[in-house]
Amino acid sequence: MKQSETTEDLCCVDERTGERALIRVDDAIQQGIGLARPVSEVENLGLVDAIGRVLADDLHAPFALPPFDNSAMDGYAIRTTDLVGAGPWSLTVAGRVAAGDNAEAAGPVGPGEAFRIFTGAGLPQSADAVIMQEHVERNGDTIIIREAVSSGSCIRRQGEDAPNGALLLPKGSLIGAPEIGAIASVGLSQIGVFRKLRVALLCTGSELRQPGETLASGQIYNSNRFILMAALRQPWIDVVDLGAVKDEPEVLRETLTRASGQADIIVTTGGVSVGEEDHMVAQLRAAGGKIRVLKIAMKPGKPLSMGRLDNAVFVGLPGNPVAAFTTWRIIGAKVAAKAAGLVEKSPRGAVVKAAESSTRSAGRQEFRPARIVGVSKSGHPRVKLLDNSFSAKISLICNSDGFAVIPAETLNVREGDHLDFVYL
Ligand code: AMP
Ligand code: MG
Repeated sequence: MKQSETTEDLCCVDERTGERALIRVDDAIQQGIGLARPVSEVENLGLVDAIGRVLADDLHAPFALPPFDNSAMDGYAIRTTDLVGAGPWSLTVAGRVAAGDNAEAAGPVGPGEAFRIFTGAGLPQSADAVIMQEHVERNGDTIIIREAVSSGSCIRRQGEDAPNGALLLPKGSLIGAPEIGAIASVGLSQIGVFRKLRVALLCTGSELRQPGETLASGQIYNSNRFILMAALRQPWIDVVDLGAVKDEPEVLRETLTRASGQADIIVTTGGVSVGEEDHMVAQLRAAGGKIRVLKIAMKPGKPLSMGRLDNAVFVGLPGNPVAAFTTWRIIGAKVAAKAAGLVEKSPRGAVVKAAESSTRSAGRQEFRPARIVGVSKSGHPRVKLLDNSFSAKISLICNSDGFAVIPAETLNVREGDHLDFVYL
């Protein structure tokens, strides 16, 4: 593996002051997660409504899965003790069990006998193997077997999927297709899930207009509201859409106070820098919030503020749309997941190779929009890193497949360097 040019000393340097005053992205994530108080209220829902929600308790198998020994194939249930000496062997077809039949009622397979059997049918008594129908010759009521099969062949044993009492799903699982399948397979018609996380969304900026309105000079359309609505559209989230407010301290404070009474998390965009029109932090504090402005060694998205206002977690994202989206994906979404009681199975990431070199200044961990352009000889996706000044360019993320993660210490990325990748 080629090494990038790295130096430990290069992390967390603020390019404006030259000081190592920034905190690492991982530390910011930990701080955010530490602020979240997971939802504890539980609701019991029918299975269809529970899809996409967060499981409120461990789910143990209330009986063995599968519940009885059964056939894995269409074929014949036999006694392998009948296959002694040199083959071929012939057996008499003396019974039949299909899926859904009561296998016990079919009685035992006698010596020299075979039962016709189908996938999913219970194994009749005394049989100890199933031979696939493709591996026998059938003449009337007789089958001829030319190759021996071992005891246990083509049988799915009771409990081999999950023994009685086994942990099927841990509390905090996101209920997707596999999980709802497991819940259904143990016969539950309802399941306890955490109530939805309430996320209040507020965009700030006197320049913002709603799409559909006419722009006056100096105004732009509010895209963050829609970017975040899209990112927040999850079955386990209820969005309280507070629209946009102007950069007016009083209005902002009132809106934030209202939001804290309605939501578990307040997500805002804009107004968190240090400009005269950036009132967010001051107004949160005036409303009684405990807020920290984090200077994160992250590109894009250095000005991020987090804290609490009453019972709500506050996540103040930067105003630039790409920065707002990226900081939400990389930091905010993890805070929301924690607050919703969600436990991620495993991080969703990949390792890619840089398709070409790219210069940059070290100091901040960079989440660079990147596009997959092929596959390397080693089997890694090859990615083209897009423009390195991107935090206000929405077209760049539209053109990318995800973010290539460039470590804070890395000076320049060289062609062939391995990088972590976060899919969009
Ligand atoms: P701010 O963080 O408020 O200083 O905003 C940084 C930049 O992002 C400015 O150029 C804003 O005009 C822009 N911006 C802020 N909020 C939005 C928004 N909701 N939609 C689009 N651009 C925004
Ligand atoms: Mg602003």
